Amino acid sequence: MGQVRYVCLPEALQGLFEGLKAYRKHDGSILLFRPEENASLRLTMGAERMCMPSPTIEQFVDAVKATVLANKRWVPPPGKGSLYIRPLLMGSGAVLGLAPAPEYTFLIYVSPVGNYFKEGIAPIHLVVETEVHRATPGGTGGVKTIGNYASVLKAQTLAKAKGFTDVLYLDCVNKKYLEEVSSCNVFVVKDNTISTPAIQGTILPGITRKSIIDVAQSQGFQVEERLVAVDELLDADEVFCTGTAVVISPVGSITYRDERVSYRNGGIGVVSQQLYSALTGLQMGLMEDKMDWIVELN
Ligand code: PMP
Repeated sequence: MGQVRYVCLPEALQGLFEGLKAYRKHDGSILLFRPEENASLRLTMGAERMCMPSPTIEQFVDAVKATVLANKRWVPPPGKGSLYIRPLLMGSGAVLGLAPAPEYTFLIYVSPVGNYFKEGIAPIHLVVETEVHRATPGGTGGVKTIGNYASVLKAQTLAKAKGFTDVLYLDCVNKKYLEEVSSCNVFVVKDNTISTPAIQGTILPGITRKSIIDVAQSQGFQVEERLVAVDELLDADEVFCTGTAVVISPVGSITYRDERVSYRNGGIGVVSQQLYSALTGLQMGLMEDKMDWIVELN
């Protein structure tokens, strides 16, 4: 008879994950960007919504730091990418019914990743989805649960097959207000004002979103968190997306009901470029961390 092995049995209902990055600075130290926000803005709220206990903010940050330090040889050299950190909190143990799991498993895995785009920043091309919705009011769209991504995978796969980079979702009640892209938040620039959909339970509160609001305000932009109608896309100077993976991606074009609108001739907008440089300067340790957002590991 073979050896008896004990395995963690994942339960099928409760699953939350996080995503953050570690960058290597020129002096060899490793930088984390606001890791406590992944716990406070998201994991603890998500766990509450999913009827799970969650690690405290301190436990979360300590676990991230320890995992990165144990894998520090995998953090790419400056300018060559980052170490992607994926914490996962899931129900586990012997349960088949619709009930909170008897046990919970928290684990963190990491992988070196190159820059999302070879050039660092590159325009993306979006299609507005009119049939599939990412989230419903009262649902789980505001937390980073695995089911949210399962529901949009098909729309994203079809959009990619048609040559789009990703999908921009609308609200499911009025079908006219912007929500977000499959894995990033969206911003619309008009003159000196930058608008982004307000967080109302159906949009993931992105840490990059929150940071870009502060960076843009510190650069003199007026930032509005509000309902942003899809029609405003027609008149916008620039549109960009924010997220840990994409950092800031300028939107080159958006297609809505077969009509395509281009921004900055399909290239990289000045505002997107300016905010990208400011944010990556902080994340990669090239600029002074006046906001106190960086956790440095040696
Ligand atoms: N929206 C969704 C649906 C996402 O998956 C992500 C990525 N976590 C974001 C927005 C951006 O969040 P963040 O800036 O924290 O990566």
